[in-house]
Amino acid sequence: MKYEAVIGLEVHAELLTKTKIFCGCPAEFGGEPNSHVCPICAGMPGVLPVLNQQVLEFAIMVGRALNCEIPEVSKFDRKNYFYPDNPKAYQISQFDQPICGRGWLEIQVGDEVKRIGITRAHMEEDAGKLVHQGAAGLAGSTHSLVDLNRAGVPLLEIVSEPELRTAEECKAYVQELRNILVYLGVNDGRLEQGSLRCDANVSVRPVGQEAFGTRAEIKNMNSFSAIERAVKYEIQRQIDAIEDGEKIVQETRLWNEERQVTVSMRSKEGSSDYRYFPDPDLIPMHISPELVAEIEARLPELPAAKRKRYQASLSAYDANVLASDKDMARFFDEAVNAYGKNPKGIANWIMGDILAHVNAEKSTFCEIKPMPGHVAKLVELIDADTISGKIAKTVLAKMLETGDDPAKLVESLGMSQISDTGAIVTAIQEVLKNHPQQVAQYHAGQTKVTGFLVGQIMRATQGRAKPDLVNQLLTEELAKV
Ligand SMILES: [Zn+2]
Repeated sequence: MKYEAVIGLEVHAELLTKTKIFCGCPAEFGGEPNSHVCPICAGMPGVLPVLNQQVLEFAIMVGRALNCEIPEVSKFDRKNYFYPDNPKAYQISQFDQPICGRGWLEIQVGDEVKRIGITRAHMEEDAGKLVHQGAAGLAGSTHSLVDLNRAGVPLLEIVSEPELRTAEECKAYVQELRNILVYLGVNDGRLEQGSLRCDANVSVRPVGQEAFGTRAEIKNMNSFSAIERAVKYEIQRQIDAIEDGEKIVQETRLWNEERQVTVSMRSKEGSSDYRYFPDPDLIPMHISPELVAEIEARLPELPAAKRKRYQASLSAYDANVLASDKDMARFFDEAVNAYGKNPKGIANWIMGDILAHVNAEKSTFCEIKPMPGHVAKLVELIDADTISGKIAKTVLAKMLETGDDPAKLVESLGMSQISDTGAIVTAIQEVLKNHPQQVAQYHAGQTKVTGFLVGQIMRATQGRAKPDLVNQLLTEELAKV
C-alpha cells in the first residue's frame, strides 16, 4: 500500500523585547540564575500581570506578515499544569481567542512553490529552566535546580495547518518562517539555542484516505536538518508499524540526535487536561483596525517579495539563496544600488567567495570588512576590462583582509590588466624566441600547441595580459616567424 504523511508544525518563537511579557524584568538570555526575577514572574500570590505593549505589536506584526486575520477581541487564558519550572502552576497563554487567526505563507521546495495555511498564532509566557544535578541527566540526577530567568519571557506560538506532506517541506516551512521572523526583527532565529523551537505533529494514512491517522508529536529537534531527519524517520517508523499490524498510539516522542531515532516520552494530554479558563487578572484586548493598519505599514520587505524582485535579474535559485539571509540581501541591494549594470556578477561574488569567507569565519555580512560599494566597484573593474576575473579573486581576498578600495588595491599591487598592445607583443616575441620547437610544431599543423604558448605569455605577464588580446596577437606574431 502507498502511504502519505500529514504533518502540522508548531513553532515557538521567543520575542526580542527588552522586558518580559507581564513584568519589567529583562528578557535577555542568560545571566546569573534567578537574577532576572521579580514577584510577578516568580509567581508570588497577590501580584498582577500587566501586558507588555511591545509583545502585542510584535504579535500583530508577525500575524500580518503571515497574512493572518487579526480579530478585534483577543484574551488571555490560564493553562493549568503542575511542573517545577512553572511557579504559578499555570501558564498564561491564549486558548479560544488568539491574537492571530487564519493566514498562510509560501514555501519553495525545488522549483515548486506551495502555500501552507497558518491555523493561528498566540502569545504566551515561557517557563523557567530546570537544571538537573548529577552526571546522568534527569534519570540519574540527585536533585534539580530551578532557574526562573526565562519564566515570563514572551513567546509567540505559530501553528500550521496539517498541510505539509514531506520532511523537505517541513524544513522549508521552518526556514521560511524563521526568515520572516528575523526580517521583522522579532526573533533571532537561533534553533540551536532554543530561541526558536519546533514541534511536529506527524501521522500517516493510505493515499486516497481522507481521515487522518493517529498522530505523534515530535519534540527536541534543534536544527533545520534535525527537523528534516526526525520527520523522515517518524514517517517511516509509522508506516513500518502499520505494515506490521501495530496500532499507532497518540503520544509525545523525543528526537534523539545521537541515535537518530524518535523515542516515546509520554502519552499526549488532550487540551481538556489543561482546564483552560480566562485569566481574570488580564482584561480582554480590543484591537482597533487602525492599530493593525499602522503596524502593517511598518512591515519591511519580506523574503517572498525579495525573491520575486530578485528574479527579474537572477535565477530562482540565486534569488532564494540571497533572500534567505537578511544581511546578505541588504549587502546585495546596496551593491546593486552602487552599480546596477551587472546584478548577476555582483550576486556571483557575494554567493561565492564572500559567502565562503563568511561561513569559514563564522561571521556575518554585517561584520565583514568590504563595503557593498567596494564589491560593486570590483565587478565594475572586471566589466571595464581593467582586471581579469582571476585577478579579481586575488583583489577580493585582499579586500576581505583589509577592507580597502579595490581600485586602490589594483593600483598599489600593480595588478591592472595589460591592454597595451606593444607590451603584450614584446612578451609574445620573447616567448616565441625561447620556444622554437613549439613554433615549429605549430607550423607543422599542430595548432593545439598555442595553448601552451598562451600559458607561457600569461606567466610572463603575471596573468595581467588581456586574454582575448593575447590570442589575437599571438596568431599574428606566429604568422611572422
Ligand atoms: Zn519579573
